[in-house]
Amino acid sequence: MKEIRTLDDLAIHGAPPAFDQPVHVGRPNIVSRDAFLAHVGKVLDNQWLTNNGPLVCELERRIADHLGVKHCVAMCNGTIALEIAIRALGLAGEVIVPSWTFVATAHALHWQGITPVFADIDPATHNLDPDAVRRMITPRTTGIIGVHLWGRAAPIDELQALAEEHGLKLMFDAAHAFGSSYKGQSIGRFGACEVFSFHATKSFNTMEGGAATTNDDELADAMRLMRNFGFKGYDNVIHPGTNGKMIEVCAAMGLANLQAIDGIFAAGQRNHTIYKQELAGLPGITLLDYDPTDRNSHHYVVLEVGEDFPANRDDIILALHAEGILARKYFWPGCHMMQPYRDLFPHAGLVLPNTTALAPRVVILPNSADAAPTTGQLLRTVAGARKR
Ligand SMILES: *Cc1c(COP(=O)(O)O)cnc(C)c1O
Repeated sequence: MKEIRTLDDLAIHGAPPAFDQPVHVGRPNIVSRDAFLAHVGKVLDNQWLTNNGPLVCELERRIADHLGVKHCVAMCNGTIALEIAIRALGLAGEVIVPSWTFVATAHALHWQGITPVFADIDPATHNLDPDAVRRMITPRTTGIIGVHLWGRAAPIDELQALAEEHGLKLMFDAAHAFGSSYKGQSIGRFGACEVFSFHATKSFNTMEGGAATTNDDELADAMRLMRNFGFKGYDNVIHPGTNGKMIEVCAAMGLANLQAIDGIFAAGQRNHTIYKQELAGLPGITLLDYDPTDRNSHHYVVLEVGEDFPANRDDIILALHAEGILARKYFWPGCHMMQPYRDLFPHAGLVLPNTTALAPRVVILPNSADAAPTTGQLLRTVAGARKR
């Protein structure tokens, strides 16, 4: 592996890159080819490809057991699962969400004619600040969607109290939080329902996929109906619906990955720890840490670049990309700066000071043991901290 000791060693200054093959953020976890292919064999033997097939049913049961929740409704992706959960909950009017999230959280509302209202975050956790949420409540507000960003639980108790006080529905976008816990309890059981994404880039993946989990029987029934065009039985449509079904091959991937989930999380945590060591003591560089008393997949390696560092975030990203380390700027510049919200709410930034200050400082690094030492050497060289 290439060593970076001086500025001349940097690929951005003409040296060969550290990695010939780019190292991506969110490279898919494919843990057992044999287990996956064995499950796919069953799909072919069954001649049952989709429509609530046996593998999807088994995956739903296993996920519900794993999380300790009554219902798991598997879907074709996390975004459709959000849309269906939002609709089944009867959200309307305005719903409060963070701007500092993947744009799907906001789009899932806007797509259904509901106004996402952006609330600010706590800069220490990157999650919703309950006081900021309180300030955004209006007579049109019907609900709150908390996001467990980077797998760290949102302030669930505070949001629950706020929701009860104001008669609002509360649900969670748990797309990052499969395997996470809050005060010792698995994410998946909180609020009216929680929505996971099992997209290829997430720590636990079904290629494309997602699920809504809930302890509410009626809500689970409503979501099952809506994910299958509103069909109750063969010819009986009793509700508007869409096609949100997970296919059997995706469930095959899910079953294979779920068997190996502890190993996936252990690797994520190990890589995170390596970054922590490699980046220790760098001026102005903060690696977002996770609460050791709660579980987290450690899938996201989140760096904040402060004023004390001699290069800015965008220059660091350029230098890393030149090395083949494809760091990302998630979720810059914040949903409120993306369309259509930027035109709809041109002044939203005024009430989002923490989001606005954080967005230009964040770097997401590949969860990779290989990329960690190179990243550390690069930053140390740029900081001038490494002596020749
Ligand atoms: C990935 C993600 C989604 C969307 O999930 P898909 O399965 O890609 O549709 C929603 N919210 C957040 C926070 C995400 O990261």
